Amino acid sequence: MNIINPATEEVITTIPEDTLTTLEKKFSLLKQGQPLWHQKSLQERITILRNFKELLSENIESLCAILTSEVGKPLQQSRNEVNGAIARIEWLTNNGEKYLVDEWMTQEDSLGEKISYESLGIVCNISAWNYPYLVGVNAFVPALMAGNSVMYKPSEYATLTGLEIERLLKRAGIPDNAFHIAIGTGNVGELLLAMPFNGFFFTGSNATGKHIYSTIAPKMVTCQLELGGKDPLYVADDVEDLKSVIAGTADGAFYNNGQSCCSVERIYVHEKLYDLYVVEFVKEVSGFKLGLPTEEGIYIGPLTRKNQLQVLDEQVADAKAKGAKVLLGGKRMNRKGYYFEPTVLADVTNEMKIMRDESFGPIIGIMKVKDDQEAISLMADTDFGLTASVYCKSLERAQKILSQLETGSAYWNCCDRVSAPLPWSGRKNSGIGSTLSHAGIRAFTHPKAYHLRGKI
Ligand code: NAD
Repeated sequence: MNIINPATEEVITTIPEDTLTTLEKKFSLLKQGQPLWHQKSLQERITILRNFKELLSENIESLCAILTSEVGKPLQQSRNEVNGAIARIEWLTNNGEKYLVDEWMTQEDSLGEKISYESLGIVCNISAWNYPYLVGVNAFVPALMAGNSVMYKPSEYATLTGLEIERLLKRAGIPDNAFHIAIGTGNVGELLLAMPFNGFFFTGSNATGKHIYSTIAPKMVTCQLELGGKDPLYVADDVEDLKSVIAGTADGAFYNNGQSCCSVERIYVHEKLYDLYVVEFVKEVSGFKLGLPTEEGIYIGPLTRKNQLQVLDEQVADAKAKGAKVLLGGKRMNRKGYYFEPTVLADVTNEMKIMRDESFGPIIGIMKVKDDQEAISLMADTDFGLTASVYCKSLERAQKILSQLETGSAYWNCCDRVSAPLPWSGRKNSGIGSTLSHAGIRAFTHPKAYHLRGKI
């Protein structure tokens, strides 16, 4: 498998993919290793995961150089990602004991009732490339902490990062047979689906997620899916500081080149502010610094995947044909690498692809609305349900709008944000189950109910 630098289109290196034989060997090692890993105390497992966190911190510059080379993420955004992953590991390990120890619900003379959080066994984590550290950590850290062994399949676009993760986990003290990595494309992922894992945890596209869910259904094992979104944002007529609203919302749409599951993907603006908002938004986006992601200060680099250029071309063509105005960008950049111009489209409608299908690129549609009610019905008009955001003066107004939207996360005067103490989840086509928070720590366990009669 060739690992390509998306900024230069050069082959960085070539790596052999796993085969059915190597995967079966790894699976059987994980099966042997899981009881031994589980025998360690929770405190020992937490200590090892904290060592991993320290190693991320000590090696941050070399890890970011690798991440940037294979996904094209601007260097500072790579640093932000690894630092974010470090903070998440800290929260998860600080709270492991609280949420994984036995929970006594009843302690009476002749009756004890407790919940014991038992590990699932051997879990498979198939992951995405856009935040390989963050979405990886969300799954393999709590999975290992709970005493599971883990087969981790990084995306083919983040393979070198996956190998670094494995190397540092082993250096931190994770035993060889508690963690293995599966290298390859979707074909390797497909082979994993046929294997007898006790749980499948997937982060990626809706299409692959649906395929995984239906393929493994007969196994009757835990399956959790964190999928894409088409996240809406509404700017109401009473926002106080329009300049900072524009800076925040433009960043929400364009950070990581728009390749975040919770990127702002649709903007609705109250008619009283629409014209001013659009003009100032275009100015803001025009100021983003483009270039090689290895250069300091660059905000927009290349897309990670060449194929996505075609998706963006089609969304722009469809929007133009249906009457949208291209106010900025709108096409591929004339240079080496998978670059697309930061693109702003105005006068869009919910009938256009750009307002219906995940764009996952540096492109945004802005639409005028007459009031909150119209904003709510347009925001709700989607198959996805990851996040939604409202900018307005009062929490009461925001809450009234956000409570009517079927999303896993709701933002008031902020957007494109994930926080470890809160559950990260999607509704509808955006997924099933949660990572992070107490729910995400316990997601890698089975709760066993003990009914105990006798002296405790
Ligand atoms: P993808 O679905 O193309 O690939 C994800 C993983 O699945 C990769 O490791 C891939 O090799 C594997 N895969 C592909 N086909 C497979 C198959 N048939 N069987 C088993 N595995 C298979 O997604 P992607 O391009 O890596 O990620 C981008 C998507 O992920 C976007 O839609 C984004 O919104 C979503 N995402 C969601 C979250 C979240 O937390 N909700 C976080 C990050 C990314």
